[in-house]
Amino acid sequence: MAFCKKMKEFTDVKRFQDLIESQPDFDAHEEVVFARDEQTGLQALIAVHNLSRGPGTGGTRLWRYDQFENALTDVLRLSAGMTYKNAMAELPFGGGKAVILAPKEFKSTRAEFMQAFGRAVESLQGRYCTAEDVGTNCDDMAEIAKSTRHIFGLRETSGDPSPYTARGVLLGLQESVREALGTDSLKDVRVLVQGVGHVGYHLCRLLYEKGANIIVSDVNETALARCEHEFGVDVVAPDRIFKTAIDVYAPCALGATVNERSIAQMKCGVIAGAANNQLESNETAELLRQADILYAPDYVINAGGIINIACEVSQSYNAKIATQKVDEIQGRVREIFARAKAENKTTLAVAGEMARERFQTGQSSSFRVEDLTRTAARMA
Ligand code: NAD
Repeated sequence: MAFCKKMKEFTDVKRFQDLIESQPDFDAHEEVVFARDEQTGLQALIAVHNLSRGPGTGGTRLWRYDQFENALTDVLRLSAGMTYKNAMAELPFGGGKAVILAPKEFKSTRAEFMQAFGRAVESLQGRYCTAEDVGTNCDDMAEIAKSTRHIFGLRETSGDPSPYTARGVLLGLQESVREALGTDSLKDVRVLVQGVGHVGYHLCRLLYEKGANIIVSDVNETALARCEHEFGVDVVAPDRIFKTAIDVYAPCALGATVNERSIAQMKCGVIAGAANNQLESNETAELLRQADILYAPDYVINAGGIINIACEVSQSYNAKIATQKVDEIQGRVREIFARAKAENKTTLAVAGEMARERFQTGQSSSFRVEDLTRTAARMA
């Protein structure tokens, strides 16, 4: 019910702006747009956090949110995270992200729904550029591209970013194991991968090639069966993850799984995974340090996908160059660990400082409620 009430209120942009600015995760975002389309039932939020390095760039998440506020929190946190990720990877992008509130069922075809979302992206005139994220795929990108030019990661260009993301995560994970466990080899190192979707699956493949002892957890039986069949992994139930004795916890599902409660149970020395916003809050990093758990900051090691995407911007896409660029993640992680040790800080604090050195905070903010039915008429 609260959700319906909010929708009604959003005919008033001022109310929308007040709601955004009252969110704890609001961080002087440049622009936040709520886009809706009556015909397809689309409801989406697009947040542009910072534009100082280039267009706000980050994927589009399609997710079923219990409450509108949860979608808002997600888009505000994820878009800010993209500013840090893109800056840290020295990419010519600012930070942006979109979340689509997944409907119970589509009012139109999924293709039309995605085309409507493409119109929302187009309405930002290049200040936001999109790509894949959780819940969206290459087919969706092809549909979105029918209504906007501001899109990366199409099949005919850099394609699926997940294998590159997994490669960067593996490098960060290896570096963390070297630092915390004092070994260069992943042979028999016990790694628990939470979420074996796009990235988690590829990470399991890479870990398997390195001889790691892999344990996985997922809520999707098909995804689990594929990993069991191909890599002979062990499976644990989602509620057993933190009760399992492991060396490395690799979160590759959703965010905020690392918090006071989970840290109290954790039996691992390293956290290194692909999920965005793994820590519930910045303070969580200090709890990890006290618990002697080494954390490889998520936005540093999961940047492989966006680095791959950036390789289609300034030149014609070349997979070999993309791989070399992704491999630079290892040096960044090494620098973060060295600085954290020397300065007696958390790895998250050091990564934040390094990223902020590479971007300045934006000043102006704008808020918009975009009626895409009108946009479609304007564009026709
Ligand atoms: P995905 O949707 O393909 O996979 C996520 C997997 O997590 C699914 O198999 C899902 O069933 C599982 N899952 C959901 N809830 C779970 C739970 N409670 N316990 C265990 N498993 C659960 O998504 P993805 O593209 O692989 O991305 C995974 C994470 O990495 C996300 O946080 C995403 O934002 C982040 N990330 C992805 C990329 C990329 O290139 N795809 C890049 C950077 C960051």
